Amino acid sequence: MAVVHDSLFIDGSWVSPATDRRIQVVNATTEEPLGSVPEAANADVDRAVDAARRAFDESGWAKTPPAERAEVLNRFADALEKRSEQVTRTVSQQNGMPLSLSEQFEGGYAVALLRYYAGLATSTEFEERRPSPLGFDTMVQRSPVGVVAGIVPWNYPVVLAVTKIAPALAAGCTLVLKPSPGTVLDCFVLAEAAEEAGVPAGVINWVPGGRDLGAYLVSHPGVDKVAFTGSTAAGRTIAENCGRLLRPVSLELGGKSAAVILDDADLDKVTEGLYFASLANNGQTCMACTRILAPASRYDEVVDALTGWMSGLKVGDPLDATTQVGPLASSEHRERVEGYIAKGRAEGARVALGGGRPVGIDRGWFVEPTVFADVDNSSTIAQQEIFGPVLSVIKYHGDDDAVKIANDSDYGLGGSVWSADPERAMRLANEVQTGTIGVNGYVIDLNAPFGGVKASGIGREFGPEALAGYQQLKSIYLPG
Ligand code: NAD
Repeated sequence: MAVVHDSLFIDGSWVSPATDRRIQVVNATTEEPLGSVPEAANADVDRAVDAARRAFDESGWAKTPPAERAEVLNRFADALEKRSEQVTRTVSQQNGMPLSLSEQFEGGYAVALLRYYAGLATSTEFEERRPSPLGFDTMVQRSPVGVVAGIVPWNYPVVLAVTKIAPALAAGCTLVLKPSPGTVLDCFVLAEAAEEAGVPAGVINWVPGGRDLGAYLVSHPGVDKVAFTGSTAAGRTIAENCGRLLRPVSLELGGKSAAVILDDADLDKVTEGLYFASLANNGQTCMACTRILAPASRYDEVVDALTGWMSGLKVGDPLDATTQVGPLASSEHRERVEGYIAKGRAEGARVALGGGRPVGIDRGWFVEPTVFADVDNSSTIAQQEIFGPVLSVIKYHGDDDAVKIANDSDYGLGGSVWSADPERAMRLANEVQTGTIGVNGYVIDLNAPFGGVKASGIGREFGPEALAGYQQLKSIYLPG
């Protein structure tokens, strides 16, 4: 049965939207309506920013003792955990994410992040009296930056909202979040959890809508910081606007990461690890290692291992716990991915596996797991983010050449190195220009900074570093 919401969560209660415009959400697997929600208008953004402003300036959230903020975060975690099944099923139906991944990330990881930042709120020193070599002391304060505009994409809608909510709340900030229209249902579950947890009024507000609404929010005079996750193109526009306004902004953008397979790697272990590193969420993952760098001496063997493994992946309904590859998030997105596959063929790469739509599935926005061999690193499919289950295998000659190819990219977000010799792998990991990289696997550690270099972004999420991103520094000199 379709989920229908009629109100927006602003200032701690469910309020009528300013207009009767609505967002329809469609099931990526069945292509049937999944639900509908009000589309926020600029007037709703004004209300939400005002509420966040009041909660920050007047209601005292910014000055609430960190231990109390931690209690709120822990209660939020409990309320979200109670709703994990609803969250994970909603996400999987919206964007095609296999349930096993949704349970791990959109369910478990999101809850763990709230608890992690609750812990940091209590263990972090927000004020430090520092002796100066000039002979006096200075009080260095880390105060919350203010009202945060959080802009979230559709691929991991819950966890990417929580990566903003958790450190921002721990720091003492308030937020207005704008989810992506295609995956807007889950934010209502988050709002219900926030309400049950007793998050004070105005501390978190949600305004569902598209790009124009996002642009309005980003430039709103009541906003102090923007936290954006999404495409590099949108990130550039947002960065330009924030630059003009001198407004702090963090940007988690796209990627085209490399998995470097060294000539001593165990290919069974590699393919096992690449399921998450390269194909997580049907390839709809920012840090996915979609360029597979294979040594010339074992090139054919690597292509065979990849095609053998990927041809055995179970493609189907993401709600089936055994499904490994679900549909793409929307029909427009599938067209984009198919456009890249056509471009790969046209530019001379060889389709070693897939390249079409899976046989026997007549509904849902599926594409076959696809492997391109004989890919030139300068070609479109090696340089641009495809965001689907499409891997490109690129040949290299020697470790230095592998590093050179890995770094020959506008992006630098993820990466992985696979070898029987961890020290050799570590040497290469040190040389790859990227914000994160894994050795013989890729997992995102919530206690370590995550983010990109080059066109993959500015700033970091996760770890204590993300908390610092929601704080501003003030030095009070005490010479007297
Ligand atoms: P998108 O840039 O189209 O949209 C992301 C969000 O920004 C949406 O909510 C959208 O409505 C909003 N938006 C778009 N233009 C805007 C503007 N000018 N002003 C304000 N808001 C605007 O991206 P998408 O297609 O939703 O998501 C996929 C992209 O996100 C991929 O490029 C992926 O790599 C990237 N991503 C990056 C990370 C990371 O941590 N680096 C994580 C997930 C996704």
